[in-house]
Formats: sequence, C-alpha cells, structure tokens
Amino acid sequence: MPSYREFHQRSIEQPDEFWAEQARLIDWETPPRRICDNDRPPFTRWFGGGRTNLCHNAVDRHLAERGGQPALIHVSTETGREETLTFAQLHEQVQLSAAMLRGLGVGKGDRVLIYMPMVPEAVVAMLACARIGAIHSVVFGGFASGSLATRIEDAAPRVVVSADAGSRGGKVIAYKPLLDEAIRLSTFKPESVLLLDRGLAPVERVPGRDHDWGALAARHAGDTVACEWLDATDVSYTMYTSGTTGRPKGVQRDVGGYAVALAASMKHIFQGEAGQTFFCTSDIGWVVGHSYIVYGPLIAGMATILYEGLPVRPDAGIWWSLVEKYRVGVMFSAPTAIRVLKKHDAALMKRHDLSSLRALFLAGEPLDEPTARWISGELGVPVIDNYWQTETGWPILTIANGVEPRPSRLGSPGVPMYGWKVKLLDSISGEELDGPDQKGVLAIELPTPPGFMQTVWRDDERFVDTYWKTIPGRMVYSTFDWAIRDADGYYYILGRTDDVINVAGHRLGTREIEECICRHPAVAEVAVVGVADALKGQVAVAFAVPRDASAVADEASRLRLEGEIMKVVDERLGALARPARVRFVSLLPKTRSGKLLRRAIQAVCEGRDPGDLTTIEDPGALQQIRELLQP
Ligand code: ATP
Ligand code: MG
Repeated sequence: MPSYREFHQRSIEQPDEFWAEQARLIDWETPPRRICDNDRPPFTRWFGGGRTNLCHNAVDRHLAERGGQPALIHVSTETGREETLTFAQLHEQVQLSAAMLRGLGVGKGDRVLIYMPMVPEAVVAMLACARIGAIHSVVFGGFASGSLATRIEDAAPRVVVSADAGSRGGKVIAYKPLLDEAIRLSTFKPESVLLLDRGLAPVERVPGRDHDWGALAARHAGDTVACEWLDATDVSYTMYTSGTTGRPKGVQRDVGGYAVALAASMKHIFQGEAGQTFFCTSDIGWVVGHSYIVYGPLIAGMATILYEGLPVRPDAGIWWSLVEKYRVGVMFSAPTAIRVLKKHDAALMKRHDLSSLRALFLAGEPLDEPTARWISGELGVPVIDNYWQTETGWPILTIANGVEPRPSRLGSPGVPMYGWKVKLLDSISGEELDGPDQKGVLAIELPTPPGFMQTVWRDDERFVDTYWKTIPGRMVYSTFDWAIRDADGYYYILGRTDDVINVAGHRLGTREIEECICRHPAVAEVAVVGVADALKGQVAVAFAVPRDASAVADEASRLRLEGEIMKVVDERLGALARPARVRFVSLLPKTRSGKLLRRAIQAVCEGRDPGDLTTIEDPGALQQIRELLQP
C-alpha cells in the first residue's frame, strides 16, 4: 500500500499513468487513447478517444453479478411510499423511461430538464438520459417559477420531466402550476412535458404538450433500449451552482471523466463496497445528490437510499432507523442537517442498531467543531468533513482513508485529494504562500482532474472570466474560498473571499469569527458579516440563533449574552475580531441547500438591495434582520 503522500504525488507528477489506472475502475466500449489533454487551457479534457456510458456503468454492468440485489431504495415519510428496486428492476425501469423519452423525440445531445421531487422516477429519468446520451439538467424541486424559468431558458430542453407535486413536512407543494408559469415566463418553450401523477395535487394538462407518465409507460411496456456509446468528452449534464454569491453558474460536466472520478472517489475516499448500502441525505437537485445519491454509489455497485422527507419527521430518529433497517455502511450528509438533529434528543439515535455504519461524511459548508464532536460522539464512527463545489464534482479536500487511513482534524476538511493541484495564493500579488498558517485564496492549477466542470454551459467566456482570471498574473482556478494550511498540510476554510472582513487593515475570515462564537454554549448557530464603517473601514456584525429563545427574552439578558460572546471572541481571536454588535434572531437566511446567505445579510445591514434571492429558503429570516436594524 503506498502512503497517501506518494499516491498524491504520483497523481500530480504522472497524471497520465495515474488516471489511466483509475480509468480501469469503469467499463469502456472503446478504451481511451489520450488520457489528459491540456492543449487548450483552461479547458482540460480527459480520456479522449474513449467511449463509455454512465448508465451502463451504474446499472448494466452489475446485472450479471448482482441483478437481484437492491440498487435504489426509496423511502418517503411524506407519502408513506417505500420500495426497493433491484439492479434488474432498475434496468427495466430505465429502459422504459428511455423509450418514453425517445418517443418524445429526445436524442443524443438534447436537453431534458428534470424538475422532480425525491421519487424513484427522478433517478430513473436521469439514468435514462445518460443511457441515450441526452443531457439532463436537474432543477431542485420546489424552486419557484422565476428560478425555474431562467434554467429553462438557459438549458433550452426539448422535454421537461416533472410531477404533480412535491411534499415537505406534510405540506403538498403543487409543482405543475409553478412549471406552467415558468414555461410562460421563458422565451424558450419545451416541446413536451412528461408528468408523473403522484395523486397529490390536481393537474391540468396542456393538450399536445403534456403527457402522463403512467399512460406513456403503458404504451412502451416491455420496450428495450440499448446504451448509446458516448465519447468520454461528450456532455453528460448541466447543473447550477447554489447561487449563494449571486447569479448561479451553469456547470457542464463530461461523461468519461466524471464516471472515472466518481468510481475512484468511491474507492479511495468513501470506501464504498459493492453490495453494501450508501445513504446520502442530500437532494438530487444539488451536485452532492448527482454524485453521491445517483452515480457514485451505483457505479460502485452499491444500493443507494433516496429519502424524501425531513430529518425530524416523524421524529429525529428517522434517518437512524433507515441505517438500521437497510444496514447502511456509509452515510453522507451536511452540517446544517446535523445541527438540526442536535436540537433533538440524542436518545432517538441510540435506540437504533447502528453497527453497520462505518463513517459519516459531511460537506457543503463549514463543519464547526462542537457539531463535529457531538455527532461523532453520538455515532461512535469517524466523521469526515469534505470540501468541494458544484464546479469540482467531487471532493478537493478530505481524507482518503481508502488509500492510507489518517486521522481527521477537527475544524479541517483535510488535505488535497489526488489529482487536485491545490495552492494558496496571495489575493493581491498572486504569489504562492508556502509557509504554514498563511491566509490565502484556495486555488487550483491546471490540469484540472477528471470530474471537474468542462465549462459554463454555452458560455466558455464566462467560464474563463469568472474562474480563471481573478488572480493577477496567472491562469489558475479560484474557488473564491479563503483558507490556511497548517504545518502538516491540513487546510482550514476561513470563508468566502468576498466574506473577508477588513478591520483597520487586518483581514479576517467571517468563518473564523463564527467558529469562535459557536463555542459559546448558548449559541446554536451564527452568521458574521462585515459591515461598512466610517472609522475602521469595516466591522464585524454577528447574528446569532440562541439554543434556547428564553435566554434572550429581554433586553438585559440580550446585552448580557452579547457581552459574553464578545468576550469569547476577544479571548480567542483578539479584540480586532470582536463583533461591533451581536444580534439575536430565531433563524438565519439560507439557500435551499442550507448555505448561509451572508451577502444578503451584509446588503441589508448596509441598506443595499440584497440582489438575487431566488434560492432563499425562507424570506422571513431576512425580514427579521431588517426589523432588528430599524432604529
Ligand atoms: P454560488 O457559487 O452560486 O455562489 P455556492 O458556492 O454556495 O453558490 P456550491 O457549489 O453548492 O455553491 O457550494 C460550494 C461552496 O460551499 C464552497 O465554495 C464553499 O464555500 C462551501 N463549502 C462546501 N463544502 C465545504 C466544507 N466542507 N467546508 C467549508 N465550506 C464548504
Ligand atoms: Mg460557488
């Protein structure tokens, strides 16, 4: 077994050899001729000349060995539906769906927009697209018409696959009216809408355009559709970033590189074994869902759980009951969900047999130490933070226990993964920061590894301008995150580059201050933003959610807690980082994917327009802040 250091070094110094080896983890119809092509930077292309198919690798290739084993396990605590499709059944469903799409005129390179709740048909439709070489563009179910309309406009899909409704916390959300309105708003009109009727909400069909999933499936019953062999560099899908920092970017991904990247990550990072169960609690509308609900686990021959519902309904033990029932080996979630669970009784977790669980991976936002410590203590398994982006497709920073086990460090997502040439750069001079504990922009050098985005959909120029031109004097990819590295090579994410606060000439990551405030036992969650200040340039202002609302019931107790929190910051980070004010709110503004909308809070604090808020979870959270700031 090589040491991880050697493994990483080889991936960087001999990328062709390294990735040719990884490419053997998947099936090829024609093996690649050229492994890495970096002739036209920054557009790295992988596995040129190779022909393969994501659906073949996720489904067909497992039929001989495990056709009768579970592939897709669907559990809905919203509708009570619970079913398991074996690989053979999934194969059948995917072919049926592929035949339906073909029947609607969908061919290779056509776009299919999938606006669906967390139901098996959504995954089946994704795989069906992959099977016939159509490009899917999954839009998070329940996004309002405006967000959906811009994505329809951008993807220009021949077909939209949708459902009558989603459901959240027992409340039915009718999708069809949202979709109809979005199509009305968009100048591009899809030819057909394929509509799954779950019997949750009445639907009105547009004659000639709208088709009923059930009726169409009956017409195609028994149809078989072979996998279309695609060039490795063909487009598999497009999807949008979360929109935390502004207008979402349409990320375009390939076929071969993505398949290889996921297969390799399942082995080296997630240690997922064929025949076992993987449970990722994300949504198929996010990149984590694409990579680790759908493609990653299935490519690895694992059963994957598709869960529709809240983590706390019927009670906060629901996820753990699924771990017990389906003998989940590996779990993947987000810190925001764990913080929700932390507010509930841990006994609900302990009631279940969790002995099958080997690790819990968390990603999407910074994992604060108290949350990491709590969940790892309760579960008794390693909790592994992993840092990545929609753009990267799979983790940039984490721990590769499948190569060489090493301990996680609290507060750090880990070390650079194989294939990623991670650098810390001075944002002003662009110079590389070699020493330990220096703060810089986290950047990636070319060539980018397999799985990384190919470009911004239909906009090469935006790809180059947005990501590759921000550091003076060099063509490197900016993550727009701010980080430090310790003497042992572990990285710590300090916040987004536009969240860096400049107090009297000192640069502080908002994340550093948040992490520190989270240590106060009365604080459940906190957001820190920099607010313009005539004297100091900028000052930090904190918005904290108290663990117990009664702790801030009156002015005196609010002031007392504010004082205590300031003291914690003084002691750990110094007076410079001390927030000018600590305000208390009952919830924080977040995107639908659970990310803090600091830029919106900052805008409100500075009396500016908060800008694009289409991805906000609850506008009430921002309203609370507005009201607090009223004189
Ligand atoms: P947009 O790019 O549209 O503003 P976004 O950056 O929130 O939206 P995503 O791609 O979903 O869209 O999120 C990636 C970002 O999430 C990272 O750049 C980083 O800021 C944050 N992030 C993800 N994982 C971690 C982690 N483990 N620790 C700290 N931050 C993380
Ligand atoms: Mg981003």
